[in-house]
Amino acid sequence: MTRSVAATEGVDLLAEPLLHNPQLRVQVAESRSVRQSLILAEVTRVGDLLDYDRGDWLDPLTLARRMGLSRPHIPRRVLQEAKAALPPAARAYLDRVLLKGTPRPPSTPGPPDLLIGPLPRRPNRPPHPFTASQLHELQPVCFQTAPRKHLYTLVLHTLHALTLVSRPETKWRDLLPPLEGEQPQWASLYSTLVPRPVGDISWRLLHGAVSMGTYLARFTPVPDTCPFCGVRKTLAQVYLECARLQPLFQLLTNLLLCFWLHFSPHLFIYALPICSLTKSQDLLVNLLLALAKTAIYKTRERRLADAVSCDCRAIFRSSVRSCIWAVFLWAASTDSLDAFEERWALSEVLCSVSPSGSLCLTL
Ligand SMILES: [Zn+2]
Repeated sequence: MTRSVAATEGVDLLAEPLLHNPQLRVQVAESRSVRQSLILAEVTRVGDLLDYDRGDWLDPLTLARRMGLSRPHIPRRVLQEAKAALPPAARAYLDRVLLKGTPRPPSTPGPPDLLIGPLPRRPNRPPHPFTASQLHELQPVCFQTAPRKHLYTLVLHTLHALTLVSRPETKWRDLLPPLEGEQPQWASLYSTLVPRPVGDISWRLLHGAVSMGTYLARFTPVPDTCPFCGVRKTLAQVYLECARLQPLFQLLTNLLLCFWLHFSPHLFIYALPICSLTKSQDLLVNLLLALAKTAIYKTRERRLADAVSCDCRAIFRSSVRSCIWAVFLWAASTDSLDAFEERWALSEVLCSVSPSGSLCLTL
């Protein structure tokens, strides 16, 4: 539908849109930020520019305040351009309205609530129990207030629904079938203790989304055996079975025993669920597992790139120690050593703090 002229009088003129109106070009309102602040100030129609109490057009300073601006030059331009764009008959009508104080622009209700959510799945196609698709878990939400993350997930999982629904969420279900009642602990991979890049490596490993060189092997003659032990490389071989990893796993076994936990390949890959009663300990154990995965990942990358062999157990130890040092120095400078001890010196497995306030690393 198109219109050739803007309304010139009556409530139609008062309700004439200020934004996106080709019949009433207000150039300054074509900027996205100006448009947003006008919507915020609820000034979207010609009638909204009138101040009925003062019997005049809105004061630019008042409008600036409503638009959340500190200076009135943009509101002044909005007013000037709107007035200039109005035909003389419309200007004369508005002058009469301001004089009489009536009619007022019709009050319009806010936009209706829009709910957005996935369409219910057809009953003849039940979702795979361990699919990578989260579509069946997403509930309809109010579009206006939905968090960005939720909308992103909804769009992503809708666009790629067919690919995701046919894919299990982790390759490890076949390689390392979860024990009864065991679930991949996706939520345990990230926490306040785990640095983001470290969490990302755990997340990728749990998905099975780490490079094994198979794609590269199509173009270049890379060997399909492990560069450390010569055994044919698979995801399980590289991250669980390789001989070079066993000293690291022995160290983890000893550390976790101090927390009364049994280290196993399942715990290593699927991570530890966080329980409210043992939260501090669970967070610390998940950090250790994540740093161990990162040590394996980085030493392998280094070996492939430079043919340099690093001891992943030593790398793991030094990364735990530097992590603790960094947090300790921060705690000491902010006078929060008690909180540090509660979090990091649990059972003195990794470190302890002396009465004089110095750090003793036990790992
Ligand atoms: Zn190996």
